[in-house]
Amino acid sequence: MPNARTVPPAPLEAKSPYELRVKLGKDVPESEVREALATGDMGFLHSFTTGATVDGPGVRVVAWTAGCMWRCLYCHNPDTWNMANGLPVSVSRAAEELRKYRQGLKIMSGGFTLSGGEPLMQHRFAVKLFTAAKTMGIHTALDTNGFLGDKLSDAELESIDLVLLDIKGWDPARHRRLTGMDIAPTLTFARRLAERRRPVWLRYVLVPGLTDDFDDIASVAAFAGGLGNVERVDVLPFHQMGKFKWKALGLSYTLENTEPPDVETVDWACKVFHAAGLKAY
Ligand code: SF4
Repeated sequence: MPNARTVPPAPLEAKSPYELRVKLGKDVPESEVREALATGDMGFLHSFTTGATVDGPGVRVVAWTAGCMWRCLYCHNPDTWNMANGLPVSVSRAAEELRKYRQGLKIMSGGFTLSGGEPLMQHRFAVKLFTAAKTMGIHTALDTNGFLGDKLSDAELESIDLVLLDIKGWDPARHRRLTGMDIAPTLTFARRLAERRRPVWLRYVLVPGLTDDFDDIASVAAFAGGLGNVERVDVLPFHQMGKFKWKALGLSYTLENTEPPDVETVDWACKVFHAAGLKAY
């Protein structure tokens, strides 16, 4: 059996974000973690995946960050909650990784998406990586819950071509039960993106019995429709692909018996967004 010295380091690239990855950064001293967060010279990544077609336009390389302060009941990547589960990666190594795909991404009208976890937990690293991508002429997208949007300056927002903004509900009490956090900072960030005319694709995860309340969806739709910068809405059907992670991590999973929404329900939710003048899929 190999000991710790002979075990090769985890590869940066994963087959998919559904691969369970834990404790990849456990040996990084606390002081180095703090320095990394302050400078952005190093980040903690769950993985890089390639060929994604659902995380922004075209074919994309996606870097999945570790670290999230939310606790969504339907989270399919709870192994990304803890930053110490991420692989420590210097910004230059991450940029080199991106460089490999530069030509292919251009040909396929794609780009680079930073997702998570919550990428803005590592906002300095995110900014450095986006800046590097823009220097290479790569389209950039940030997938975020928006809670830490105020960590980005107006100038830094310009290095992000598209924000994939996850709005998880409307009613504040229900939102807090679902995510553990307040919705207000997300909405503030959404308004700021609108003021600055930054393109947004809104994402709404549809969970039967949890996020399928008509008034909630209609309120999100009315809000998004009034912003003027929401190019499309993706209604994402809840699925159970992350269930095994909750079990493996010893977490209590409350959606064990929740079924994915049927096609008609997804279609109905899309129509609620359509009624607010939005493209929704
Ligand atoms: S914000 Fe995303 S990564 Fe964080 S708990 Fe919610 S679904 Fe999971």
